[in-house]
Amino acid sequence: MTKPTEAMRQAMANAEVGDDVFGDDPTVNRLQDAVAERLGKEAALFVASGTQSNLCALMAHCGRGDEYIAGDMAHMYRWEGGGGAVLGSIQPQPVPMLPDGLVDPEVVDASVKPDDHHFARTKLLCLENTKDGAVQSVDRMREATLVGRKHGLSIHLDGARMWNGVVELGISAEEFTSEFDTVSMCLSKGLGAPIGSVLSGPADFIHEAHKWRKMSGGAMRQVGVLAAAGLHALDNHIDRLADDHSNAARLAEGLGNIDGVTVAGQATNMVFIAVDGDVPDLQAQLLERGIRTLITPSPRRSIARLVCHLDVTADDVETVINTFAELV
Ligand SMILES: *Cc1c(COP(=O)(O)O)cnc(C)c1O
Repeated sequence: MTKPTEAMRQAMANAEVGDDVFGDDPTVNRLQDAVAERLGKEAALFVASGTQSNLCALMAHCGRGDEYIAGDMAHMYRWEGGGGAVLGSIQPQPVPMLPDGLVDPEVVDASVKPDDHHFARTKLLCLENTKDGAVQSVDRMREATLVGRKHGLSIHLDGARMWNGVVELGISAEEFTSEFDTVSMCLSKGLGAPIGSVLSGPADFIHEAHKWRKMSGGAMRQVGVLAAAGLHALDNHIDRLADDHSNAARLAEGLGNIDGVTVAGQATNMVFIAVDGDVPDLQAQLLERGIRTLITPSPRRSIARLVCHLDVTADDVETVINTFAELV
């Protein structure tokens, strides 16, 4: 729901461009180099979306008849149209995702298939951090990645929201992603760019991913205007994520005091609440007052996901709390 800021639009307007299909866009190259450097990876590739990034990663890591392991609630497995299976003939092996977003290392261990003609070849383990806002520590991630290493798997991080984790843990992006061969991160969403993700990893992997980006229609031309938004976000919109986290904590506290609202969880910039009453109706009433929410009605209870971001101020948070108190 973020909109590019005035300063970001200026950076986009002033961007130097070239033809990125031929690797000639200096702004795209600067963005790719900046991400590779921050994450301590050899190379990086600018792509249109997180979905395209994860798809290119799957297809670069795995071939036809190979398999990847991911949590059953992982974005890559559940919310990306099954692209790895459809376009890559890659079999997913979902394993239960724990409440903190990690997968149980023992379950991963038991899910890796032996080298036998009955089975798909297990090639890749995919983790996600943050998940529903929840951050897993580097040590916690290592418990899972060690199992993957034991079996010789490659390891990919869907780090669409990794910068929230980096800021929350107060560590460097390089440390946050150190256990992973390859990483996907989004410049959109919380970082405020209108489009774009970056995939990073070893140079030969990025070389391969580049081909899949082309085949999936993601080789774009003078896209320095978009990369400029991403560079602006990297330079200006990361440290401030801490404000989103404190706003979300205040939002959870304020909403928790309202009769008829139950706070189901809060982590980094996300708050999950259950509300009494008719949720679509509440959503419409909130929207009338200028408060846009992403609400997913469920048969058992009405859970709303409230996400704090750079267009939401501390004052806005108080307005939201007061409006909920009035409406619920
Ligand atoms: C949003 C998201 C994606 C996909 O990004 P798009 O740019 O929407 O395709 C992937 N993984 C996670 C964890 C996400 O939150």
